[in-house]
Amino acid sequence: MKNKILEKFKTLFGEDGTLYMSSGRINLIGEHTDYNGGYVFPGAINFGIMAAIMPNGTDKVKVFSIDFDEFVEFGLQEEDKPNQQWARYIFGVCRETIKRGGKVGGFNAVFAGDVPLGAGLSSSAALESVFAYALNEINGNGIEKFELAKIGQSTEHNYCGVKCGIMDQFASIFGKEGSLIRLNCKTGEYKYFPFHPKGYKLVLLDTCVKHELASSAYNKRRESCERAAAAIKKNHPEVDFLSDANRLWLDEVRDQITQEDFLRAEYVIGEVQRVLDVCDALERDDYETVGEMMYQTHFGLSRLYEVSCEELDFLNKLARKCDVTGSRVMGGGFGGCTINLVKEELYDGFIAAAKEQFAQRFGHEPKVYNVVISDGARKL
Ligand code: ADP
Ligand code: MG
Repeated sequence: MKNKILEKFKTLFGEDGTLYMSSGRINLIGEHTDYNGGYVFPGAINFGIMAAIMPNGTDKVKVFSIDFDEFVEFGLQEEDKPNQQWARYIFGVCRETIKRGGKVGGFNAVFAGDVPLGAGLSSSAALESVFAYALNEINGNGIEKFELAKIGQSTEHNYCGVKCGIMDQFASIFGKEGSLIRLNCKTGEYKYFPFHPKGYKLVLLDTCVKHELASSAYNKRRESCERAAAAIKKNHPEVDFLSDANRLWLDEVRDQITQEDFLRAEYVIGEVQRVLDVCDALERDDYETVGEMMYQTHFGLSRLYEVSCEELDFLNKLARKCDVTGSRVMGGGFGGCTINLVKEELYDGFIAAAKEQFAQRFGHEPKVYNVVISDGARKL
C-alpha cells in the first residue's frame, strides 16, 4: 500500500508526500452505553488508511483516492463542498479545523486503505483521523488530540449526515498497540488498559447483513433509556443518565415503567458494570473472565435490549459450541460483525465450522477479519 501511494503521489504531483496513517477500531465491550453516559472500551486495529500529503501553496485541495480511482479538487470555503462522498470526509475535516481556529492551506494528497467499508470497523473514522492528524501537523496548529477526534465527529455530523458519538474517532486518534482505552462518555476521561491476549486470537465474523430496523430501533432504545433514567431520577436526583444508576435503584421503579423499558435499562446498567469487570480482569491477565463477560453482553443485547438478529445469534451460539472463550455482537446490532476471543488451538476449527454452517443456513459465508490492537493516528 505504502509504495503504491508514494508512487502515485510522485506521478500526480512530481514530488514526494509525507506519509500519515490512522486506523479502524474494535470495541471489546460497552455497547449502547455511550448515549447513556457510560463507558466504551475500544482499541485501534491493524486495518487503516494511509495518506501521503504535502502543502501545495495554493488555496485548493487536490486529492486522489486509490481505492475509488478518482481525483477530486475543492476549495476551502463552505460553499466548495465536493459531491463525492469520500471527498466530503476530507472537506469536512478541513472545515472543522478552520472552525476551531486552525489554519488549513491547500494541499495535495493520495490515500488508500484496507478497513472494510461499512463493516462496523469505522473506515470513516480512520479517514477523518488521518487527515485531522496530518493537517494539524503540517499546518502547525497545535490542536490537542481530543479536539482532533471531535473534528472527525463533527465532520460526520455536519458534512456526512451521521449523528455518531465520539468513540470511533477517539479510538482512531488515541489508539495504542497492545492497549484498549476505557472512555467515560459522560466526562471524556479515559484510561489505557493492557491487552495482550497471548495464546488467543481476536477475530471478527461479518454476517454481511444489515437489517432495515436499525435506525428506528436505535431511536426507540434511546427513548426507553431516557424514560427509565427519568423515573429513577425522581428518587435519586443525581441520576442524569442510566450509567449514574444501579440495579437497586432500577428495581425501585419497576412498577412505574413498562416491562420493555425495564429490560432495556437492565441491560445498560449491567453493561456499564461489565466494562469495569473486564478492565479488572485485564489487569490480572484473566482472559477467561473477559470472554464470559462478552457472552453476557451478547445475551443482554439479544434478549434484553433486543438488537440482535438470527445471523448474529447463530454465530454466537456456534462460538459457544466450539468452546470459543468470548463472543458477542459488536456495534449497534441488527447485523454487522461478532467479535470473538478464541484460543489459538481452537481457531481453525471454529472458523471452518462458522463458514460451513453459516453458509448452509444463510447461503453465504461470513467474512473473517483477524484483528490485532495497533497504533492509531501517526506520522510514518
Ligand atoms: P464505516 O462503518 O466503515 O465507517 P461508513 O459508511 O461510515 O462505514 O463510511 C464509509 C465511507 O467512508 C465510504 O463510503 C467512503 O466514502 C469513506 N471511505 C472509507 N474508506 C475509504 C477508502 N479506503 N477510500 C476512500 N474512501 C473511504
Ligand atoms: Mg463510519
